[in-house]
Amino acid sequence: MKRLCLAIAAALALSGVAAADEQRENAFADRGFVGTRADPLIKAADGRTIWDLRGWDFLEGPPAPTVDPDFWRHNQRLRKNGLFKVADGIYQVRGFDAANVTFIEGRTGYIVMDPLTSAETAKAAYDLVKDKLGDKPVRAMIYTHSHVDHFGGSRGILPDGGQGKIPVIAPAGFLEAAVSENVLAGNAMSRRSFFQFGSFLPRSPTGQISSGLGIGLSPGTQTLVPPTRLITRTGETLTIDGVKLEFQLTPGTEAPSEMNLFLPDKRALHLSENANASMHNLLPVRGALVRDAKAWADYLTEAEVRYGRRTDVIFNSHAWPHWGPPALEYLAKHRDAYKFLHDQTVRLMNKGYTGVEIAERLKLPEVLAREPYNKSFYGDFSLNTKAVYQRYMGWYDGNPANLRALPPEELATRYVRALGGPRAVLRMAQEAAGRDDRWAVELLNRLVFAHPDNAEAKELLASVYQRMGFAAQSGIIRNVYLNGAQELRRGPPKLPGGAATADIVQNTPTSMFLDLVAVRLDPEKAGSAPLAIGVVATDRPERHLVTLRNSVLLHGPLGAGARTDATLEGPRGQLIAVLSGQPLAEALAAGRLKLTGDRAAVERLLASLDRFTPDFPVVTP
Ligand SMILES: [Zn+2]
Repeated sequence: MKRLCLAIAAALALSGVAAADEQRENAFADRGFVGTRADPLIKAADGRTIWDLRGWDFLEGPPAPTVDPDFWRHNQRLRKNGLFKVADGIYQVRGFDAANVTFIEGRTGYIVMDPLTSAETAKAAYDLVKDKLGDKPVRAMIYTHSHVDHFGGSRGILPDGGQGKIPVIAPAGFLEAAVSENVLAGNAMSRRSFFQFGSFLPRSPTGQISSGLGIGLSPGTQTLVPPTRLITRTGETLTIDGVKLEFQLTPGTEAPSEMNLFLPDKRALHLSENANASMHNLLPVRGALVRDAKAWADYLTEAEVRYGRRTDVIFNSHAWPHWGPPALEYLAKHRDAYKFLHDQTVRLMNKGYTGVEIAERLKLPEVLAREPYNKSFYGDFSLNTKAVYQRYMGWYDGNPANLRALPPEELATRYVRALGGPRAVLRMAQEAAGRDDRWAVELLNRLVFAHPDNAEAKELLASVYQRMGFAAQSGIIRNVYLNGAQELRRGPPKLPGGAATADIVQNTPTSMFLDLVAVRLDPEKAGSAPLAIGVVATDRPERHLVTLRNSVLLHGPLGAGARTDATLEGPRGQLIAVLSGQPLAEALAAGRLKLTGDRAAVERLLASLDRFTPDFPVVTP
């Protein structure tokens, strides 16, 4: 009987027919469909296409041999788009961007939650709601957490920002987290996010499909209407336009500032991005501060205890809802996956295993692993075990051999020499490729780092990466390998530095910009002579003193009578522009900034600041 079941399961898998768990997810992804927009294109004011609803039509039909079949079907669900009913008075627009935007009907208008990444896609979602449900005003906006795919479209919903009359509700610490998470390490993170999201890969069965969290990320206008009302404790309630809202704060989980929402009258629980249709990341490969798996699981338990018995539907910031008894099972089993991940990693850690070893040994129990929402479509279970290890123990595995290991190029040169030279290493790699790809990668990566001009080694490594990408279940891992292959063949993309949007700049404290200036200081260019420069904003009550001493840049308030070599004065935006690299001479000539004192001192400071661009080599030395 067991053999027969296995045979049927294998046949089902081969034919691409979904198993029962997947059929349930398929049904939930379809449930409540109201309609979608007629025009598949969402465009910016300049005519540029921001989103094409047909962009993933290639996913129709059985899985391509170059894509993990489970991941293929997961994306068939993710790409469904339009307006969906979640419960009476609760609707979501899905498939218009990376995330979902939720519309809650009040007595006279809508409460809008998580207004997508771009103003253009958010406006298109609101237009669809007006078309299908009625043209009513926005009565409040809610941001569940501090990631841009949940607030970037805010001005597509409230072009005038609500003018203080529309409450904009967010969890405590939202603005600081929203503007700060990617400032200091932003350039390195954007470089690596090209790998994570496959930003420069073609979208096709042999290229990028999705990250696995949402079907795509719209490249439109990112905005930020700042919150006017912060939620500071779990259990806090608000009634807006006749709708009762109860909040559960979940800081330090998927985002530094995050909260869940319970609608008691509608028996509906919104778990934000704390629950998803896939396992999430504890440490995204783009780089981030490592997240807390235990807090994540504990907050899901708190949600279960506080709201479980009063919940008929669970819906989220990404993907589709779960209804009825499967909803509570989803919450419990999704929580169990994170709890298992945390507890078992720590158990093995305490038995002496290192992160790399734990990642090889630990597997989710079958009862949890078979649920589509616990699969590694986005975050990867084995990478997550390494993140748990890192959170507690850091990068060092305790072995003195690894305390001061040689850097990659030096190590590679010695390895290749020790193994008999480049031809011998290439031959070993050719024998391993296709049979033992991880070993082939180890050999070829050393060879490329020792001999970056070895075209044969680079092409063979690219072909191995490609095969590993095609086999990956996680969209992120797929993208990383495929982007690695592409860069081995073509080199890194040539790109200017990232420019933050006006709303983000406006809401970022000046002191945070000065922190970024400090990490750009090149000590060799700065020289040893101390400097003191006043930086005075004329449009805000802000006076900063920037000092350079001992190869360190410090900043603080500019007190009356402080000794300075020079003072730069002007609107804050102009000061930031010049400190970010725009020419000082032009700003002074155009009268945008005023300089008093020693101009050479300011010029020396500006000339000692590094410029970052996200195009440094990664897969080659
Ligand atoms: Zn998100």
